Amino acid sequence: MVHSYMSLHEAMLYTKMENKKVSCNLCARRCLINDGGTGFCMVRKNEGGTLFSLVYGKAISASIDPIEKKPLSHFNPGALVMSVATMGCNFRCQFCDNWMISQDKTIAGKDFPPGDVVKAAGDNSCQGISYTYTEPTIFLEYAHDTAKLAHQVGFFNTFVTNGYMTPEAVKAMASYLDAATVDFKGGADPEFYKTFSSVPSVVPIFEALKEMKRNSIHIEITNLIVPKIGDSIERIKDLGVWIRDALGKDTPLHLLRFHPDYKMTTTPATSLETLEKAYVASKEAGLNYVYIGNVPGHPSESTYCPNCNELVIKRYAFEIVRWNLVKDMRCPVCGTEIPIKGKLHPGGHSFPYALF
Ligand code: SF4
Repeated sequence: MVHSYMSLHEAMLYTKMENKKVSCNLCARRCLINDGGTGFCMVRKNEGGTLFSLVYGKAISASIDPIEKKPLSHFNPGALVMSVATMGCNFRCQFCDNWMISQDKTIAGKDFPPGDVVKAAGDNSCQGISYTYTEPTIFLEYAHDTAKLAHQVGFFNTFVTNGYMTPEAVKAMASYLDAATVDFKGGADPEFYKTFSSVPSVVPIFEALKEMKRNSIHIEITNLIVPKIGDSIERIKDLGVWIRDALGKDTPLHLLRFHPDYKMTTTPATSLETLEKAYVASKEAGLNYVYIGNVPGHPSESTYCPNCNELVIKRYAFEIVRWNLVKDMRCPVCGTEIPIKGKLHPGGHSFPYALF
């Protein structure tokens, strides 16, 4: 393992136990770690009864993204975000598209302390910072300190997370976390999670979502639709109903096309037909804002007024190509207010688009 003692940073949210064991309370695995051992995520180590993060200030990836890529469609549209990630993950998804950084046991990365992340965000005309690519829960100390600094200079913070956080972890981040994209896979089917992600239960994800809602964090949900093994229309509809009842009918839901990757290269990409059936089922569940993702040019990338069906935000992939909302984020035809947090950031893209 390549790391220096200097890179160790004492962990947040852990409990000291007998015989120098510790219990980590960041994610729902709640690993019990022996002295000298590391947690399931590979980036948290017990040294003599103290738990340390091995990846504090050590970014394996940093880049500028349109916020639509997270995806977040109802939060500061058009904004640019500084995306940052460390090594490690608390899931073992066989289809991970970032497996080279999420599943490798090496503690690699470039020194990129919180102050430098915030400065880089400003230097690159970003309006916010996203903790993403790998699971941000496992680098919570780094995300927390960066997010705190980011707020001090007026940037927002977003998580792209599998949602397997403890309620304590959600509360610890809540003051600085403005938005979260919570990623479900295979319609939240518990068997799918056990078999393809090595996750024993999906219940904690729903609990974390309720905690986010209690803390007024803006939430958007994704559901990765995996052909045959994770595309049950019944489950897709059930998830839509849960979102409607627990989080509200205005919660955006993104139905994502699966692409073969990592250990699942023989599973084909999701068909358009399946995605469109999933779209109908999610709308039937009562959700107002359902999107199809990873299919550039599909009409369901855009936002429509739930009252009169007017096209109010036209998108192509991660770009806003037409903004058709009038004052106070209202539909220009019927005046219905479209729930969008923050404001439009028209300067964030290098391509032209119409504001009206
Ligand atoms: S964050 Fe890592 S060490 Fe902590 S409980 Fe989750 S997998 Fe275990």
